[in-house]
Amino acid sequence: MTDSKNDVRQSSDWFTKIDQERCIACGLCALHAPAVFDYDDNGVAFGKRDANHGTVPIPPEQLAAFKTAYRDCPVQAILRSRRPFPPEKPAKPRPDHYTES
Ligand code: SF4
Repeated sequence: MTDSKNDVRQSSDWFTKIDQERCIACGLCALHAPAVFDYDDNGVAFGKRDANHGTVPIPPEQLAAFKTAYRDCPVQAILRSRRPFPPEKPAKPRPDHYTES
């Protein structure tokens, strides 16, 4: 029997996600760590294990590949944390136009 606490202990205790606003779609991370990162049709990378939410720990056997990708990202778009990333807040709606009163 396992519980979530044990599952995390058996992991590398690192979580990752991509800052997709910063990613320049160079493809290096998916090349170095194909089990951790993939990229969409525009070449923008994402964490493939959890749809880029950063909530699933990196498996220990992928940690070396992850570190290489993290080190080599030319724009520091790969984020990492010892804890799961919090959910992203939805963007505030922006008005399409302003009217003068
Ligand atoms: S290495 Fe960095 S810039 Fe290149 S695809 Fe990955 S996250 Fe994007």
